[in-house]
Amino acid sequence: MKKAMAAYLLKKKRFVIDEFEIPDCKDDEVLIRIRAIGVCGSDAHYFLDGRIGDQIVPEKFIIGHEASGEVVATGKNVKSVKEGDRVVIEPGISCGKCEFCITGRPNLCPYVRFLGTPPVLGAFRQYIVVPEKNVVKLPDTLSFAEGTLAEPLAIALYGIRLANFLTGDSIAILGAGPIGLSVLFCCKTGGARQIFVTEIINHRAEMAKKLGADEVYFADRQDIVKTINEKTSHRGVDIAFECAGQQETITQMLDIAAIGGKAVIFGIPAEDQIYFDPHLVRRKQLPILSVRRSAFTTEMALDLMCKGTIKFSSIITHRFPLERIQDALEIVSTRSEGVIKAIIEP
Ligand SMILES: [Zn+2]
Ligand SMILES: [Zn+2]
Repeated sequence: MKKAMAAYLLKKKRFVIDEFEIPDCKDDEVLIRIRAIGVCGSDAHYFLDGRIGDQIVPEKFIIGHEASGEVVATGKNVKSVKEGDRVVIEPGISCGKCEFCITGRPNLCPYVRFLGTPPVLGAFRQYIVVPEKNVVKLPDTLSFAEGTLAEPLAIALYGIRLANFLTGDSIAILGAGPIGLSVLFCCKTGGARQIFVTEIINHRAEMAKKLGADEVYFADRQDIVKTINEKTSHRGVDIAFECAGQQETITQMLDIAAIGGKAVIFGIPAEDQIYFDPHLVRRKQLPILSVRRSAFTTEMALDLMCKGTIKFSSIITHRFPLERIQDALEIVSTRSEGVIKAIIEP
C-alpha cells in the first residue's frame, strides 16, 4: 500500500507530520490528490483549545475541511468525474436517507460526517477519499487556492439566500473575517444598496473597503449603532449579518436591523448562553436566523468567483507547505502578520 503525508494535531497546539496509508476508493468514491486547503476559524479553535464544545480532538487527529485537488482514481460507479479532473470537496458527508436529506436540507442531517470534525479525519494531508456526491468540478479559470474559498463562500451564499436578500437591500456586516468578507462579496455582487462593515482589526477593515464596503467602522473606536442609525436616517438596515460570534455584535445586530428587517447569525460564540432584548425583537418583528453550514451553493460560489468583477481571492494573504502548518495555525489563531485567509499546499 502506498503512503503519503498528513499533518496530525496532537490534541492541541502541536502538529506532527507523519505518514498514512492511501486508502482505495470504494465503488461510489473518489480518491483525490489534495492541492490546497484553507485554514478555517474552526481549525484555529481546535488548534487552540483542542475542542469546539463537545467535539474533542483525540490524541492524534487530522483537521481541515476547505480542500481542492485533482482526482487520481474513481470507484466503478462514479460517473460525474474522471481521473485528472480538478475538483473542490464539499466537506459535509450527509446520510442521504433521513428526513432532512430527502427533503433537500442535507446541511441539517443529524448523521452528517463532516471532514475534520472529530471523529472524521479531515483534509490537511496529501490524499483523501470522499463520496462522489461530495466533489464539485473546479472551473478552469480558478486555481486550487481559489477553489478552497468555495466552502466559506458557499456558507455566505446559503445564509444570504436563507434571509431572502434582495437587490437594493441595505445591509450591515458585523465582523470582517473570512465569513464576513464572503457575505460582503456576495451582497456586493448581488446589488446591495448600501453596505456597512464593522471590525476591530485594521487589515480586515482595509480588505472590506477593497471588496466594496461603502462604510467601514471600527467598533472599538466609535459607537457603531449610533453611526449606522444616523447614516440610515434612523431606519436601520434591511439585513444585519452577525459574523463575529460575540455577545456585543449580537446586541448590535438587533439594534441596527430595521423594523421588519432581518437578523442573521453566522458567528459561533465561545459562550453557551447569549442574551438579547426580547422587547426590541418583538417590536421590530425581527426574525433571527441561524446558518448551519451550506447546501447546494458550492457551484454558485465558484461561478460568482469566476464572473465577479471583484477579485475575491485577494483575501488569501498567506500560503504554506504542509510542513509549516504549525506556523499557519499560529498566525491564524493569533490573527497576526496581517493574515486574513491562509492556505496550506500539501
Ligand atoms: Zn470552514
Ligand atoms: Zn441525513
